[in-house]
Amino acid sequence: MADLLEVAGVQSGYGMMQALWGIDLNVAPGETVLLLGANSAGKTTLLRTLIGLLPCWHGSITFDGERIETLRPDQRIRRGIAFMSELGVFPTLTIDENIALGGYFLPDAQVRQRKERLFGLFPDLAAKRRDAAGSLSGGQRKMLGIAKVLIAEPRLLLMDEPSSGLAPVFVKQVIDVLRNSIGHGTALLIAEQNVAFLELADRGYLIDHGKVRLSGTRAELEASDAVREAYFGL
Ligand code: ATP
Repeated sequence: MADLLEVAGVQSGYGMMQALWGIDLNVAPGETVLLLGANSAGKTTLLRTLIGLLPCWHGSITFDGERIETLRPDQRIRRGIAFMSELGVFPTLTIDENIALGGYFLPDAQVRQRKERLFGLFPDLAAKRRDAAGSLSGGQRKMLGIAKVLIAEPRLLLMDEPSSGLAPVFVKQVIDVLRNSIGHGTALLIAEQNVAFLELADRGYLIDHGKVRLSGTRAELEASDAVREAYFGL
């Protein structure tokens, strides 16, 4: 099957500061791919470049056969890409409003319908739908961030560190929610430094100093010395 996302030789950074040095990476339709890397490895920079919040200095980004590296973020979103940042939600808006925002480009009736389905998946959020998102716990906020991107039913979901700021018990919940709520039509690219997310992944890439150091299937990564030393403390 042709890849949904093809990233070839991508370079990017901030002003004079280059952070990505030629990234090659692919995601097939419906596949879950983990982008594993330590602090400052370049994970956030890559996801922001893929969604168009940072310019692609060099290389190409192809989504569903179309070159997208010069498109604006909203144009990429309309083609079926969604981005969940580490923060993810607007604390002063209600839970209902946050979820609706994720579907801002959809017809109102569709937003209402999908919202009800999502509330079925996230009963904790349904119970508090009129409350401000700022009143939620860290774990619940992360669930809201996920619901907010799922309402768009993206073909590719880019997630930046869904585990950040969460206690291990909530990390496990996030992993379970992702496993149960992501339909087969959605491919996932998850940037993480928490190796627990490998259990969700079909394949993964280890990035370091803005370069891909290693890539392989979940089993290959689990068996690799580089991953075991850096992430399993073995
Ligand atoms: P983290 O887990 O800490 O978010 P990361 O893998 O997402 O790490 P990036 O945030 O992409 O890493 O950072 C890659 C490099 O870019 C680092 O050297 C970082 O210091 C630098 N960097 C990140 N954001 C900026 C910025 N706004 N301005 C300048 N340099 C930045």
